[in-house]
Amino acid sequence: MIEKVGNKYELQCDYCSNYVEDFEDFQEAIDYKKANSWKSVNFNGEWNDKCPNCASRSSL
Ligand SMILES: [Zn+2]
Repeated sequence: MIEKVGNKYELQCDYCSNYVEDFEDFQEAIDYKKANSWKSVNFNGEWNDKCPNCASRSSL
């Protein structure tokens, strides 16, 4: 998920404890996801974010 923390945004993996902090805005976090092989997974109508480590494991 991408979460707003104070006036910054944090990209958090929904499958492990990986996260990347300090994005200036939401779009910057989206761009980071695309550039760094994060995956968006639609789970029960909600978008989960999967970091490259988790995306490379087929069991998750
Ligand atoms: Zn992960």
